[in-house]
Amino acid sequence: MKADIVVIGGGASGLAAAMAAKETAPGASVLIAEKLPRTGKKLIATGNGKCNLSNNSLGKRNFHGSIDAMSIISRTPDWHELFDEKLGVACVTGSEGREGGVYPRSNSSTTVLNALRLRLSSLGVIEQCECEITEIKSSNGGFTLVYYGGEIVCRKVIIAAGGYAAPSFGTDGGMLRIIKNMGIKSEKICPAVAPLRVSPDRLKGLKGVRIKGEIAAFSDGRELRREKGEIQFNENNVSGICVFNLAYLFQQYEGRLTLRADLAPDMTTDELGAYFHRLRSDRCGFTAEELLSGFFVKNLAVWLIRNVLGKSPSEPIDSINDKDIEHLCRAVKSLELEVTGCSPWQNAQSTMGGISANQVTDSLESVKYGGMYFCGEILDVAGDCGGYNLQWAWSSGIWAGKNAALSLKGGNNGKGR
Ligand SMILES: Cc1cc2nc3c(=O)[nH]c(=O)nc-3n(C[C@H](O)[C@H](O)[C@H](O)COP(=O)(O)OP(=O)(O)OC[C@H]3O[C@@H](n4cnc5c(N)ncnc54)[C@H](O)[C@@H]3O)c2cc1C
Repeated sequence: MKADIVVIGGGASGLAAAMAAKETAPGASVLIAEKLPRTGKKLIATGNGKCNLSNNSLGKRNFHGSIDAMSIISRTPDWHELFDEKLGVACVTGSEGREGGVYPRSNSSTTVLNALRLRLSSLGVIEQCECEITEIKSSNGGFTLVYYGGEIVCRKVIIAAGGYAAPSFGTDGGMLRIIKNMGIKSEKICPAVAPLRVSPDRLKGLKGVRIKGEIAAFSDGRELRREKGEIQFNENNVSGICVFNLAYLFQQYEGRLTLRADLAPDMTTDELGAYFHRLRSDRCGFTAEELLSGFFVKNLAVWLIRNVLGKSPSEPIDSINDKDIEHLCRAVKSLELEVTGCSPWQNAQSTMGGISANQVTDSLESVKYGGMYFCGEILDVAGDCGGYNLQWAWSSGIWAGKNAALSLKGGNNGKGR
């Protein structure tokens, strides 16, 4: 097989890259090599099948890693130009209770995938599925891509093969290993947009508790980031979007990361103290648990009495003294949870780490191999939960595709630098 440009990986960024490449160089042949039986499998699963495809509020704060994602996003079409205007996918914002989140009006991710595939087929982009690239050889001013059963020769290659997150969608980090063996450096990886592990002993009794609050990540006493939202307690981890948005910090602060949850962010410690003092006098003759059972769900009320005060929930409420109330208030406002690990890749939605900023040029071309481009999650960019990762996939794909196509007219095809 031969093509001018081959895109490895038919996910969000690969589809966008192929589209931009063919639009920029209509006379060039563009082929997508996808390992799975069909393209866009992960895209279909995004946003619980509804595809949170971008966000109305995009800023540096929402992207992590060595690459300046916003500088590329700002140079590519926004979601309205890309989806509403070019692809004919009507979009709405703020549905699903997600402030700023952009979704297809149809509420279905298949609308997004179908529109992209329709555009690709009308442009004449070839999709080659069940084609896993296992080796990339730089040769004769271009590249030879090896797959089981054959080779594809191309002038430019765009690597859009994703990271490690959610391996059931074809992304097990295999391509990052191939790239590493070619001498291209990548940053340390860890799951992003994922739960964080906490010792099961600490969480015993809290499984299933969900509470609206605030959660902050600390390292060596320094607050790194604070998020608002629903905190979910599970058997061996904490989750919820607010926690997902802290997971990327594990890469840098492994072994030194602590979470502090504020379970009543709408009240000050003093207000909380006054409230519990009043309840204690009003509920004379009640049990200790009943000090908290009108404020928190039962499991959390029981857990606090047992773990913070070391008391049995059935002890009389009078056994709770002023010092105990002080302890309770402190715990409610700043419940400390030591992070013991990150979640398995199958529970992650994105990858923190990947190909470093110093390995690519401003056009996302490899510094080491001219004619090789990268886009999407394989690069060292991890976005927050809320449409940021897909926005990065679209923008980096379009940017890499456009630049690869422009370079067909000249440049140092495939030559080491
Ligand atoms: C369950 C879930 C829900 C999500 N929801 C959202 C959301 O609502 N909004 C949001 O912004 N982000 C969401 N994300 C994150 C987002 O889907 C990814 O960040 C994005 O898809 C990354 O795009 P990509 O093109 O870089 O990689 P991918 O979409 O992962 O695509 C990579 C493709 O490359 C193929 N491939 C891998 N290796 C090879 C090889 N050697 N040869 C050929 N092909 C190969 C894979 O099979 C895959 O199809 C979600 C992720 C998950 C897992």
